[in-house]
Amino acid sequence: MAFVTRFAPSPTGPLHLGHAYSAILAHDMARAAGGRFLLRMDDTDLERSKPEYAAGIQDDLNWLGLGWDGPIRRQSDHIAAYNSRLEALVPQDFLYPCSCTRSDIRSAIAAPQEGVVFHVYPGTCRHRRRDSRRPGDALRLNLAAALARLPASDLAFPETGPGHAGFRRIDPVAALAQIGDVVLSRKGEDIVAYFLAAVLDDADQGVTHVIRGDDLFDFTPVQVILQRLFGLPTPTYHHHRLIRDDQGKRLAKRDDARALSKFRAEGATPADIRRMVGLPKP
Ligand code: GLU
Repeated sequence: MAFVTRFAPSPTGPLHLGHAYSAILAHDMARAAGGRFLLRMDDTDLERSKPEYAAGIQDDLNWLGLGWDGPIRRQSDHIAAYNSRLEALVPQDFLYPCSCTRSDIRSAIAAPQEGVVFHVYPGTCRHRRRDSRRPGDALRLNLAAALARLPASDLAFPETGPGHAGFRRIDPVAALAQIGDVVLSRKGEDIVAYFLAAVLDDADQGVTHVIRGDDLFDFTPVQVILQRLFGLPTPTYHHHRLIRDDQGKRLAKRDDARALSKFRAEGATPADIRRMVGLPKP
C-alpha cells in the first residue's frame, strides 16, 4: 500500500519548533517509504486564519527543504461540501440540533489544546429530533447512540509510534467521559468542526498515515468513530512527542520566541532546526 501522509497546520500564527518537528517527521517518513507528503491548511476558523500565516508556513517549509506533493488543500474551500456530506452520510438518528450558546459550542469544537479541560457537552439538547433544526442551530453527534450501534470490531484502530505501537481499542466509557457529543457543524456560520473536516479530507486525500502531536491522542477515537459512521477507511495513527519550552510547557502559536522565522532571522540553518528538535541529519 502506498504511504500517504500530510502536514495540516492551522494558519492562525507562525510555525514554531513544534510544527517543524511534526512536519519534518511526516516528510521524512513519507520519503523513506517512497510515499507522498501532502500539505493541508486547516483554516476552518475563518476569523483567526490569515493568508499571511499560510504564506509564511509555505515559506518556512520550503526553507526547511520539505517539498510537498500536489496542490495545497484548503479546508475553507470545502465547507459547504463537508456540511452536505454530513447530512447525506451520517445516519440521521446519530445527529441532533443544538441551540446552546456560541461560547459553549466554540469551546467544544476548538482544536483541543494540551492542559485545557475539554468541556464535555452536558446533553441539554440531546432529546431534540433531528428535523427540529432551526437556523443557527449546531448539529451534534450523539456519541452514546453511535457507540451503541457500532460492532466491537469497529472500536479499534491501528496505531504506531513511541509507546503505543500496535492497535488501540476505543474505550466507550472513556470516550463518553472525555469527548462526549461533539459539534460537527453549525449552520449559517460556516463553522465546521475540525473533527469532521479532517476525517473527510484524510479520506479524500487517500491519507494512509496520520502523523501528529500527542496533544490529539485522546481525540482520535471520535475521528475513528466518524470514519466508521461514514464508511470511510481508517488510517494508521502515529502520535509523536511534543516539543516543549524550558519550563516543560508545550509550545503554542503565541510562542513567537520559538517561531521558525525568529531562528531564521538569527542565521540558523535547517540542520540547526533538526538538531534543536532532536532529529538526525537527513
Ligand atoms: N490542524 C491541527 C492542528 O494544527 C492538526 C490536525 C491533524 O494533524 O490532524 O493542531
